[in-house]
Amino acid sequence: MSEYLKSEVYEANLALPENGLVAGTSGNVSAINKARNKIYIKPSGVSYKKLRKQDIVGVDLKGKVVEGELNASVDLSHHLYLYKHLPEIGSVIHTHSVYATAFAMVGSSIPVYSTAHADIFGKEIPCAPYVDNQGEHIGKSVVKYRQQGCPAVLLGRHGVFIFEETVAKAIKAAIMLEHVAQASKEALELARILRRSLKPFSKKEAKKWYDRHHGGCYGQKNRR
Ligand SMILES: [Zn+2]
Repeated sequence: MSEYLKSEVYEANLALPENGLVAGTSGNVSAINKARNKIYIKPSGVSYKKLRKQDIVGVDLKGKVVEGELNASVDLSHHLYLYKHLPEIGSVIHTHSVYATAFAMVGSSIPVYSTAHADIFGKEIPCAPYVDNQGEHIGKSVVKYRQQGCPAVLLGRHGVFIFEETVAKAIKAAIMLEHVAQASKEALELARILRRSLKPFSKKEAKKWYDRHHGGCYGQKNRR
């Protein structure tokens, strides 16, 4: 089980550069085991090209390395805070993906302009005000500003945090967040150029799409 989770975390970390979500060594994916006493996370400062499965670091809930030779990501404390305060989540991703970070840099949440946004996030993706990275500042801010059911928070002037039940869902949300941010930015620009109005969905309409996507009708049954 441990080995499987470690593989999942390794593959998910590689999926960040593959999907254009990170620059250099920034960005990290983690996951917590079922017993909620061990977290696997990317090591600090290792390039994605050189990252090997055995480099993924296992830590306990106090942040002590219990498996692996390398130091854990410098963002470990934020991941730990989220696992301790959000018992329903199983995986956390942090990136500075460009379009989502651009919204965060101007301190703007992302309204629900498209069905793809409504499907995955269900509501406006909130933007927390800027905080520094000391102690629990980032973790506290994410927990404070998150919206029930929405698996992402933009961090003012910084980047994004994504938190989901599973690694697969977290990666999907990280990819879709960047897609939604890019499409929203392009649509806002086009609306300005073409003098068209761009209005967000009502809460009710957004929820309709979200419920359909999360209600078991989407995707293939019996597919592993
Ligand atoms: Zn960061």
